[in-house]
Amino acid sequence: MPSSGRVHVIGAGPVGLVLTALLQPLEEFSVRLYEKRHQYTRTRMVRLAPYLVADSVESYQTDSIDGDSVGAVFDPAELDEGLTFRQSMPSDLTALLRDWTQGFCPLNSIERSISDLIDARGLGVERNAAVVSAEDATAMLEPGDILIDSTGSQSLLRDHLIPGQVDEGGNTLKIRLEYALVITFLYGQPYDCDEHCKYYKNIENPHYKFIPMVHRTHYDGSVSHVTGIVNITAEDYEAMPSRFDGEWLRSNFPEVAESMDRFIGKVKEETHGEVLGDLEVVRIPLDLYRARNATSRQWLTAGPRDHPFASSPVFLAGDSAVGSPYFQSISLGFECAMYLAGLLAQRDLPVRDMLDRYELHAYKQWLRVYMRSKMIKHNKDLFESLDDPLALLDKLHIY
Ligand SMILES: Cc1cc2nc3c(=O)[nH]c(=O)nc-3n(C[C@H](O)[C@H](O)[C@H](O)COP(=O)(O)OP(=O)(O)OC[C@H]3O[C@@H](n4cnc5c(N)ncnc54)[C@H](O)[C@@H]3O)c2cc1C
Repeated sequence: MPSSGRVHVIGAGPVGLVLTALLQPLEEFSVRLYEKRHQYTRTRMVRLAPYLVADSVESYQTDSIDGDSVGAVFDPAELDEGLTFRQSMPSDLTALLRDWTQGFCPLNSIERSISDLIDARGLGVERNAAVVSAEDATAMLEPGDILIDSTGSQSLLRDHLIPGQVDEGGNTLKIRLEYALVITFLYGQPYDCDEHCKYYKNIENPHYKFIPMVHRTHYDGSVSHVTGIVNITAEDYEAMPSRFDGEWLRSNFPEVAESMDRFIGKVKEETHGEVLGDLEVVRIPLDLYRARNATSRQWLTAGPRDHPFASSPVFLAGDSAVGSPYFQSISLGFECAMYLAGLLAQRDLPVRDMLDRYELHAYKQWLRVYMRSKMIKHNKDLFESLDDPLALLDKLHIY
């Protein structure tokens, strides 16, 4: 299939932007980026995984939870290929990634920085401020165009990648791990967390233990940013608004608030600081999911030949393709974006191979994040029963 060189990237969240920044310098492509939002307003603090800037296979695999799984899932040649691609990435983008993997930063500052980088390069990316519908996306395609859906967890095209009538969610495998509150606060002294700290600071909390993410406590020289999660029930989840503050929590869920207060009280005893401002609370379901088809491969093999998806490859990227809890998704999305950009750059690769290879890569990334998330959830469950040996034993399935 001859390529037209036109790449349509729908959704300029972090993953769509990174893909655009990776494809922009390639002469053979002209990128059209579509985004419905006029401003980047999501201020939540996010963390990116250090493996994104790994400079060796060993450092790529360094992870206390899933280091071994990486070696089990990926072949050595795949790991080498990923590393070679990283080393060939534009230096302006690599510099940003290096910066973000140091600590953690607001999501909208990541989005703005990549967006500004794209504009500052002055290499034509056509930007379109528009809500794109699935019909628009199909109609805009000319044979040989490439379409990338990076519209996030409510993916625009996920259900359209299978020929014929597909029920909503028919192309999605979803596993709900739990419901949680993501609670963030600022603290006026350095505060570092480790596994012991998680235990001792929760020792008087029978339920609603606040579990900070070790790498999500970050002291920026004057303030510590602390983010963690509290497990809640499905009923709690239903009774809460999607985001709220400490005052709302105290009035409506005093038991959760007391648990937070006890945790923070112990932090203060040790380091004599104060919480700055209020708590920021978001309630979310922690879902693991993947698109069973992350490309238009099925249209190529089984669809009518005259449908645009049969002559223009379609890829899902970022949360459109795979979603995971516990603060891993952007890194996973960037990882798939790098792989996809590397594939597209291989102009002599037949489309069929390109689609197959991307499917396989997305599947392997899914396996990795699935194993990692299940392990985190299992560890969390054990942690929450540490003071109750019988409940703990019930959760330990050894053989
Ligand atoms: C509380 C919380 C904390 C988190 N913390 C972390 C963390 O620490 N680390 C981490 O890795 N992840 C974290 N995440 C997850 C992370 O925010 C997402 O994985 C990430 O934003 C996904 O990026 P994306 O580009 O794939 O999709 P999105 O960020 O959802 O971007 C999709 C873009 O597409 C646009 N769009 C959608 N539909 C259309 C359309 N029809 N037409 C045009 N444009 C469209 C949207 O406006 C948006 O800009 C967190 C999530 C939550 C809720």
